[in-house]
Amino acid sequence: MTDLVQYYADRVNDIVALTTTLANFETPTSSKIHVDELANYIEGYLTNTLKAQVQRFAREQVGDILLAKWNADRPGTPILFMMHMDTVWPVGTLAQRPVHVEGDRLIGPGTWDMKGSIACVLSALKGLQDRGEFPDRPIWALFTSDEETGSNNSWTLIEETAKQVGLCLVMEFAATNNGLKTWRKGIATYNVSVKGKSSHAGNAPEKGINAVVELAHQTLRITEVNALDKGTSVSVTVVHGGTAFNVIPAEATAQVDVRFKTKAEADRVNSAMQALTPVLAGAQISVSQSNARPPMERDATMDRSYNQAKQLAAKLGFDLPEEGSGGGSDGNITAAIGVPTLDGLGPMGEGAHAAHEQVVISTIPFRTALLDRIAAEWVF
Ligand SMILES: [Zn+2]
Repeated sequence: MTDLVQYYADRVNDIVALTTTLANFETPTSSKIHVDELANYIEGYLTNTLKAQVQRFAREQVGDILLAKWNADRPGTPILFMMHMDTVWPVGTLAQRPVHVEGDRLIGPGTWDMKGSIACVLSALKGLQDRGEFPDRPIWALFTSDEETGSNNSWTLIEETAKQVGLCLVMEFAATNNGLKTWRKGIATYNVSVKGKSSHAGNAPEKGINAVVELAHQTLRITEVNALDKGTSVSVTVVHGGTAFNVIPAEATAQVDVRFKTKAEADRVNSAMQALTPVLAGAQISVSQSNARPPMERDATMDRSYNQAKQLAAKLGFDLPEEGSGGGSDGNITAAIGVPTLDGLGPMGEGAHAAHEQVVISTIPFRTALLDRIAAEWVF
């Protein structure tokens, strides 16, 4: 273990305590009041402990967003840490499953996704300051509030902020092999709405147009758009239809989850979805897209960023493998506009969005040391 990893190993109890403090704020995306309470705490920590300049961006429907800056007046391209404060856990979850340590595990809702990551970033910046080694370059940190529901209220701010920096460090948790995530699939959700015609199912079934039957035809057609060999999945995931057992249904709807590794595949699926036409005479179909995220492609920019991170990890005595993910993050947003992006920088753990969510404590020192070195040594 290098001196720097040992430095953070000596302070790992503090990082675990900070993670626990952050996780003890319940922050479901849907509760602005609760997410704002965590924003207040983090704003205080940034201002008082880390002496940052903090901008607070008010949001009406979700928690406020924080952007912290150090060395804002120094020359050089900024490095941006990107974190989200919200979790998938409703208020009251902590009462059922309080945050606690068991051996090498910190267990509890939000610990891994991503309160532990926030604690690592704050601790790395504090470590640099405490040792008098804070780099003479602009460092920024963005704390958003709606990543778990698709970042709709932060998307523009993420893009505008990312355009001004040379590297985005997305603090999503580590890959299962202790690596970084060098690609993520893009996501699109489609809503398919079918209109038929209602009629008495006993007296005049022939006078109806069965929207559920139409949707069944469309479900099979949509399923044919799959191209799993190319990394493209097209899944009908939610269907609704009908009003009563004795009524030919006039309406039916479906939601379709689409994942893709390249923009080309996203475009192919979109064309196929927009080209759907009714099978039953008189039926109508409308297709709309929502919740789209572009893919984070493993392109030449990613290759360069990943290799530099791997070299910094090697100097700390650690291998840093790579992996991809079918799930999206805010890294999809920044990579898609061409800004160098690293993702999966948080600690290892398991059980994201699951009842056994936990962080492996012994992976925290290396991960924090890596953030410390990226901030100090990164070359654009
Ligand atoms: Zn999550």
